[in-house]
Amino acid sequence: MLMIPGPTPVPEKVLLAMAKHPIGHRSGEFSKIIAELTENLKWLHQTQNDVLMLTASGTGAMEAAIINFLSPGDRVLVGNNGKFGERWAKLAKAFGVAVEEITSQWGQPLSVEDFRSKLQSDTEKTIKAVIITHSETSTGVLNDLEAINKAVKEHGKALIIVDAVTSLGACNVPVDLWGLDVVASGSQKGYMIPPGLGFVSVSSKAWQAYKNAKIPRFYLDLGKYKKATDENSSPFTPPINLMYGLQAALQMQKEEGLEAIFTRHQKATTATREAMKALCLPLFASDDAASPAITAVAPTSVEAEKVRSLMKKRFDIVLAGGQDHLSGKIFRMGHLGFVCPRDILAAIAALEATLIELGDTTVSPGAGVAAAARVLIQ
Ligand SMILES: *Cc1c(COP(=O)(O)O)cnc(C)c1O
Repeated sequence: MLMIPGPTPVPEKVLLAMAKHPIGHRSGEFSKIIAELTENLKWLHQTQNDVLMLTASGTGAMEAAIINFLSPGDRVLVGNNGKFGERWAKLAKAFGVAVEEITSQWGQPLSVEDFRSKLQSDTEKTIKAVIITHSETSTGVLNDLEAINKAVKEHGKALIIVDAVTSLGACNVPVDLWGLDVVASGSQKGYMIPPGLGFVSVSSKAWQAYKNAKIPRFYLDLGKYKKATDENSSPFTPPINLMYGLQAALQMQKEEGLEAIFTRHQKATTATREAMKALCLPLFASDDAASPAITAVAPTSVEAEKVRSLMKKRFDIVLAGGQDHLSGKIFRMGHLGFVCPRDILAAIAALEATLIELGDTTVSPGAGVAAAARVLIQ
């Protein structure tokens, strides 16, 4: 049982949809599938912008989001408060972009004020883009994209480029309402399908920037993907079977509805967090900056790595560990994608048993399950 922030569990319907012979990607039959996927991806992104599919992991989508809209030497602000914010900075620097990092301690959200003051002081309008991670998976922090984006809109010139890999399909990311220019995501997170597809949505303002962007590109040249997608086609051979899976997954999501999906994630998040509190396990991110995809816990009465290995051994439940300096300090429980209340209750009950076996005397048996149940039955 995967309780990590990706790959996430895949529904049987999706697995079965993928268990078919591939068809030709230049066939009329496949064109129909691309048309349906494109329409449903726009629904999921709440946008009329282009939503393009790449054969890549989430990082490939992030790379496409940089190289198609920027030039070497361009000044950008990058939010860095965790592993994935750091990845944005490294990625942009690798292509010669002039990165100014706005950092917060890991576990803390990015400061909206830091972005606002930098943007306000840019009277010459030299900042080309603001680049942030919405849900910082490494720490379980949800950055305030809406507020940071407001500051970008007041600036007027800069693009907003967002990693929404663990927020899209988990909480509200209204691309058109907020005017998000470039949004990157990946299939093995909120999409409920295996790894291998990356997604990028592109606004008309971003397409304007595309025309002048000078970073070399070929496979990830989004112009090629737009042209093909407009003809219900794909520039290169796409992962056809993954797309069968995506077709089934998007149909399931549409049946459930966006509001219901967001509520389910909200409840899973609150239930998990309330359970951790009841078990006296310190949460790494505060309630008002809680990721809808993952909860990070920094235990003091037991060792994080012992919790993870015993959960795996006794219950076959996989939790994620900490990255870099947080390695061994935190464990992270994913609740993203195809996750229901039963999964949360099972994971919390197993966690209680694990803590008891590890000799954690602060645990009152049943307290975590009771706290989670109170949230889930509301
Ligand atoms: C998983 C993830 C990515 C993409 O990672 P890949 O391994 O390339 O799919 C990017 N950003 C965040 C926040 C993620 O959680």
